[in-house]
Amino acid sequence: MRAVDIIEKKRDGHKLNEAEINFIFQGYLDGEIPEYQISSFLMAVYFRGLDERELNAFTKTMMNSGDLVEFDGIHKFLVDKHSTGGVGDKTTIALAPLLAAFDIGTAKLSGKGLGHTGGTIDKLESIPGFIFPVSRDELIAQVNETGIGIMGYSENIVPLDKKLYSLRDVTATVSSIPLIASSIMSKKLAVYADAIILDVKVGAGAFMKTKKEAKELAHTMINIGKSFDRKIIVHLSDMSEPLGMAIGNSLEVIEAIETLKGNGPVKFSNLIKEICGTALYLRGDVKSIQEGAEKTSSMMKSGAPLTKLKAFIKACGGNENVVDDYSLLPKADYSFKVKSSEKGYVKSIDAEMVGKSAMILGAGRATKEDSIDYSVGVVLAKKVGDIVETGETIATFYYNDSAKLDDAVKMLKSSFEFDDEKIETKEIILETIK
Ligand code: URA
Repeated sequence: MRAVDIIEKKRDGHKLNEAEINFIFQGYLDGEIPEYQISSFLMAVYFRGLDERELNAFTKTMMNSGDLVEFDGIHKFLVDKHSTGGVGDKTTIALAPLLAAFDIGTAKLSGKGLGHTGGTIDKLESIPGFIFPVSRDELIAQVNETGIGIMGYSENIVPLDKKLYSLRDVTATVSSIPLIASSIMSKKLAVYADAIILDVKVGAGAFMKTKKEAKELAHTMINIGKSFDRKIIVHLSDMSEPLGMAIGNSLEVIEAIETLKGNGPVKFSNLIKEICGTALYLRGDVKSIQEGAEKTSSMMKSGAPLTKLKAFIKACGGNENVVDDYSLLPKADYSFKVKSSEKGYVKSIDAEMVGKSAMILGAGRATKEDSIDYSVGVVLAKKVGDIVETGETIATFYYNDSAKLDDAVKMLKSSFEFDDEKIETKEIILETIK
């Protein structure tokens, strides 16, 4: 077999078999097929696409390129909730304790944040004393004890995806549905869960700019999941603004806790209830996601999820009293209220720009080596659909370095788009695909 023949075959729109897909990727991993040939192959896939059989073979090769993680010692129904990257996304911190209260386990490998979207790992590390488990055995023990186990991503889970992703980034081949679907699903399939719930963000700041594209991605991922015998449901959720009000590590921990106390932003709370309801539906506890969401609402009121969250924080060596006393979390020295220079109805809030404004103050890292200031960030005062008068506060920054504030304020102000007409607001979940 020769790489050039496989590239030519795909370029001309013919179907590849599993052996050919294996050959090209194994050769790439072994350093025998050069990047220029893989770049050309990716471009051929970008234009020609992959049919279902090719896509399954593609995903399988990716999945098997590194370690497969099974959780044999865990005796709980395991759910893996994954979102395609949202600004202000503290879903896991609120969701995992809720699931745990229903005896559904979360055994998750999470990434550190890079760029304008923060990572769950960083958010939880803002809790004093909190240390993630470093071994699989430790993770399993934590899930059995508390229902929740989260640890950093191993370098050896789907290493092929890391190599391919960097190449896609510089060869204009990121935005291809089969390439995105196989990238996401290979990582989901490599780490075992009984059910996969995907939250595909749709909007200006997201990978999927339109609902049509997002639906196609959702169907593609569902087909992959089902052919690997996994239970899977995809929600398409609105990203015409950041998720919730808070962006920044300790600020997001507070918002997640407030949500479990019943005081969270409405749309974020609804998202959590729908996702937990989906998990109950997938386990077979309820007949519909709606019924599951209603059960989740009652569970939230019981206070049991807060007890689960405390147990999880304690098991990780963190100070669980943060749940009742936010002054124990890192706190910025200064705050600044951003006043609107325009008036009107908020039409959209560019999530990526809001994320970047928090990053300027130190909430995120521009390179892997950067350190994070857990205390800084921004809390929005207005969301899409709200009316704003000139001079009214639209957000509050929490910061330590005054020299960076001006740039952050400029960035945040330009993220708001106004309209004279009243705006119809959307539900957070735009559509659910099974
Ligand atoms: N997220 C991924 O993990 N991979 C992609 O290709 C796009 C988004």
